[in-house]
Amino acid sequence: MTIHLAEKTLSEIERKLRADQGAAFRRELGIAVQQCDDAFRAEEESPFRSHLGASILGRDCTRELWYNFRWVKKARHIGRTLRLFNRGHLEEARFVALIRMCEWDIWQVDAKGKQFRISDFGGHYGSAIDGVIRGVPEFPNEPIMGEFKTHNDKNFQKLKKMGVAGAKPEHVVQMQQYMKYKKLRVCLYLAVNKNDDELYAEFIYAEPELADQFTDRAGRIIFSEGPPPRAYENSASFGCKFCDFREVCFKGAGTEVNCRTCKQSQPQADGTWSCRRFNRVLDKDRQLAGCNVWEPIDGMVGVETTEVPVFGDAFGFGLLQGRE
Ligand code: SF4
Ligand code: SF4
Repeated sequence: MTIHLAEKTLSEIERKLRADQGAAFRRELGIAVQQCDDAFRAEEESPFRSHLGASILGRDCTRELWYNFRWVKKARHIGRTLRLFNRGHLEEARFVALIRMCEWDIWQVDAKGKQFRISDFGGHYGSAIDGVIRGVPEFPNEPIMGEFKTHNDKNFQKLKKMGVAGAKPEHVVQMQQYMKYKKLRVCLYLAVNKNDDELYAEFIYAEPELADQFTDRAGRIIFSEGPPPRAYENSASFGCKFCDFREVCFKGAGTEVNCRTCKQSQPQADGTWSCRRFNRVLDKDRQLAGCNVWEPIDGMVGVETTEVPVFGDAFGFGLLQGRE
């Protein structure tokens, strides 16, 4: 596959930085960093994401994505990982500052000031977009998608050698999704090596068929009633090494107790979740709480908990005392 490096774009960034020794970059960074809401959000994040994200849709294991969407296990991270996430958010401001320093346009929010997003399946699927850019030397008049990534040194060297498709195919899937939903033809993939600040830039072109295949995959994951097949048959496989769900997947460990791990819950096409047993729509708080008649989805077991509320209390249509 041909790799289209964004050489003129990188040269222009270098030329501008040298011209005033980074003065315009720092000025723009001062502005961009204040708009970097994700890096400064003070409230604790929910342990579960409401939707299936396009940023993970290209991962190999369909079952892992389903476990994620079904809130099978809470994501609790160590401090280093949390700082890594935060660094990724802060780096976004540096990419934006480089683009503005070059006097190219970048749009990140809509007319109401909300970050650009893609969304489908009623909202069960979606993602925020880094930005839409116009003015890079290779496509001076065409709005193109922008995707910003940070890499450790090992991954960065792989990226330089193999291009995005060879080194990080899931990033290609992510960009294909963005281009599909925003009807753009090209995406600028801009990456930084966290070790030495080297930049890498490549253009990725829209492939509608590939994008559709992965959108279909998202739909199958969202509406699957049970765990899809594993990508690997052995938990010692490299692909399972960093999976949060290894114990559940291979060792029959318990899942979290919430509505999404209950066999009575169902995602609906309009983006809501409903409970078959109580014939009710479940908002996020209710989904998180579950109830005392929770039943595991076939093939999964629940973690014992004493904090599961009585469902009837919340809706006032009759108490269900104890598990049946
Ligand atoms: S443990 Fe392996 S097979 Fe199971 S969900 Fe994770 S990646 Fe997939
Ligand atoms: S309300 Fe209770 S029965 Fe209904 S989906 Fe949630 S846990 Fe299951």
